[in-house]
Amino acid sequence: MADRMEPILPGSYLGILGGGQLGRMFTQAAQSMGYKVCVLDPSAESPAGSIAEKFIQADYIDSAALKQMASLCVSVSTEFENVPAQALDELESLGIFVAPRSSCVSLAQNRIAEKKFLATWKSETNIGPAPHFVIEHDADIAHVPADLFPGILKTARMGYDGKGQATVYDSENLKTVWNDFGRIPCVLEKRMDLDFEVSALVVRGYDDAVVAYPVAQNVHRDGILHTSTVPAPSLKPVQEKKIIDAAKALIRKIDYVGVLCIEFFILKNGDIVANEIAPRPHNSGHYTMDACVSSQFEQQVRAMARLPLGDTRQLAPVSMLNILGDLWFEENEDCAKEPAWNKVLAHPDAKLHLYGKSEPRIGRKMGHINCLGEALNEARQNCAAVASELGIEP
Ligand code: ADP
Ligand code: MG
Repeated sequence: MADRMEPILPGSYLGILGGGQLGRMFTQAAQSMGYKVCVLDPSAESPAGSIAEKFIQADYIDSAALKQMASLCVSVSTEFENVPAQALDELESLGIFVAPRSSCVSLAQNRIAEKKFLATWKSETNIGPAPHFVIEHDADIAHVPADLFPGILKTARMGYDGKGQATVYDSENLKTVWNDFGRIPCVLEKRMDLDFEVSALVVRGYDDAVVAYPVAQNVHRDGILHTSTVPAPSLKPVQEKKIIDAAKALIRKIDYVGVLCIEFFILKNGDIVANEIAPRPHNSGHYTMDACVSSQFEQQVRAMARLPLGDTRQLAPVSMLNILGDLWFEENEDCAKEPAWNKVLAHPDAKLHLYGKSEPRIGRKMGHINCLGEALNEARQNCAAVASELGIEP
């Protein structure tokens, strides 16, 4: 086994579990730095698998496939949040540097563990999770504090983009919805009075260095990220500092190596609540690709390769617009039509990123556009102009 302190230099293979758009943008960043990439994904066609030097089509827990990956790569990461911890453990036992490690990924895979983690460190970070109650058995429902209603019932596992969630108004309603969810472990969270939402993106290197990007202000639509704007227009500097300090403290607590995103709610009364953590580069961090010295994907490469981290400095204000498959079905529900990219590309400040997915579907993330500007207002106006040309409601 190579000395674990040694950096992994360009020319080597880096491995990534999952072949989605995050894996693709990671692959592109790694390749531009001279690395080769090995992607493992269960599907025959994937955005990352189609551009990687090596693609292994296999289940995440296929031992032979993991061994094949381990024979090629010195370091492996995951882009798929729900990758089985078993896969990461197996790679680690084969002597591979796995970043982030499986315990960190598992924490983010289970809302119960995640909330407990956030609550445990509240006295140090000064930011805790929303008031919540764990529902695992019938009997738990009777013990739900009344002030958690109306609340949001969230499945402990496999939730993303607002899936696996429902608003519940009282304990009868909770009982029905929990039954509909299949009586699986859930968290009932008090529905908070949100003013706006932000996310912090932090990176920790192998050498314990921690860096943070400017906080992004996020707008969701139907539970899916719609825009991220940086600097966050509504966030006060003292709030931003508090959020970055908390995120930096949390990444150290779990001995995490790599890019970590933490979502926060800013409440109408100014309080800050920690919502959830994502153990990987995040959609709300795509702005870094065009607006910062180092993108979040380059940082993931650097962390995995045990290199010093890059500069997180923002070079221009930016507003990122997500492109969903809905856009292909604007006129006619049945027939997919390619959006008018020429109109987007006519904007000199709009940076188009498409993920190479052949099949557009409603709600499917197909790409994003980073709209830059000299001033924040200009970036936001550019974003609004691009959205309106594409027929996306402002
Ligand atoms: P996902 O894993 O789907 O992103 P989240 O827990 O982040 O799940 O919830 C998705 C969105 O739902 C949030 O971005 C926020 O807009 C809204 N939401 C979630 N929890 C709450 C809450 N407790 N109070 C108010 N809004 C919430
Ligand atoms: Mg979320």
